[in-house]
Amino acid sequence: MKRLLIENGEILNEGERYVGYLLIEGDRIVEVGRGVFAGEFLGERIDAAGKWVMPGVIDCHVHFREPGLTEKGDIASESAAAVAGGVTSVMEMPNTQPPATTIELLEQKYAIASRTSLVNYSFFLGATNRNLDQIGRIDPQRICGVKLFMGSSTGDMLVDDRSAIASLFAETPVPVVAHCEDEQTIRENSARFRASYGDSAEASIHPFVRSAEACYRSTAAAVELAARYGTRLHVAHLTTARELELFDKGPVRNKKITAEACVAHLWFSEDDYSRLGNLIKCNPAVKTAADRDALREAVVSGRIDLVATDHAPHTEAEKHRPYWSAPSGMPMIRHSLQAMLQLASRGLFTPEMVVEKMCHAPAAAFAIRDRGYLRKGYRADVAVVDPKTSERVTRENIYYKCGWSPMEGECFGSTVCMTIVNGKIVFREGQFASGIYGERLEFDR
Ligand SMILES: [Zn+2]
Repeated sequence: MKRLLIENGEILNEGERYVGYLLIEGDRIVEVGRGVFAGEFLGERIDAAGKWVMPGVIDCHVHFREPGLTEKGDIASESAAAVAGGVTSVMEMPNTQPPATTIELLEQKYAIASRTSLVNYSFFLGATNRNLDQIGRIDPQRICGVKLFMGSSTGDMLVDDRSAIASLFAETPVPVVAHCEDEQTIRENSARFRASYGDSAEASIHPFVRSAEACYRSTAAAVELAARYGTRLHVAHLTTARELELFDKGPVRNKKITAEACVAHLWFSEDDYSRLGNLIKCNPAVKTAADRDALREAVVSGRIDLVATDHAPHTEAEKHRPYWSAPSGMPMIRHSLQAMLQLASRGLFTPEMVVEKMCHAPAAAFAIRDRGYLRKGYRADVAVVDPKTSERVTRENIYYKCGWSPMEGECFGSTVCMTIVNGKIVFREGQFASGIYGERLEFDR
């Protein structure tokens, strides 16, 4: 059995930081210790002096575009970008082509991932107005959750039938993850802005079209329904200060209703539309600097339970269309950890807090089995980060199939040196291992 000893680094785990070592045998962690490893060791020693050793990031909100939209990205390309950013597990959304709205279509995605994904994976089943029968077929230990688009522009998967929504909240045996924006409000706003701006509209109107009011209405409705039915609800990508009032402070463990913030909404504000335009057009929209600051504070207070990316690549050509026809979403997974550590370095929160929100909390929120922490007996999913070597974002080190990032030109103060998935080194100093694939996540439910 292959053995790895990562020594001399600073372990960042479970709220603590100390110089220590990590001993891995096969795909499991067998020891996490303080100080110097004193025993006998035969295997590969990795000197992590000056580096941080932390659990790999678990990103519970990504769009890898396969099947059907592979001109934008695919599981192989986007999972490579993920490991290069210290991510070891992802949960992927159902708005692929065809949408993953039956157990059979969902299992096809698992089959593709088993052959091509560099990270561990799980896939959400998409809820529609008509597929409650499929929700009854879910194996809660093998499927991460059900994605509900409450009034967003996602075609088939927009669930707007009241009795379908009520049944879904009452009966789903896994977390319901909701995208909350009120469709009626957005339609009215769109009509108004089309009338005033026509084809000359620019991305800066996006936070007014997909307004704070649209977010609040839909999020409030989802939280109210979850409280009524006792649903395990996770609200994706909060973007406004006002919505935060609807959520309790931490800790995440044992909460029935949890909330997510995405890196883009913690990083950008409406001031960035003039520079980046449609590149940062996403749903829900990037909003004001005050909203962004409230989200950052909520990461600390615990009203935001976890941080994900909503990694959603589109081609550059698509993003360069006029505002109304440019698709929403941006790629982010490659730099999510570095961006959050950058915010930490500015004193907004601690690196330990970043580990809590990106590694531990996603595992807790979804009850992922044996991952998300550096613990004896857990799966060896590990990121090694150099907190002192900076890295500039260039097209050469993005690795996305779409080839661009809204972070281009940014210089982060940290670098991801190594990513270990299931005890195997899949990324090291800019190089990827070949022929090593992640595993299907399992859940303790
Ligand atoms: Zn999304």
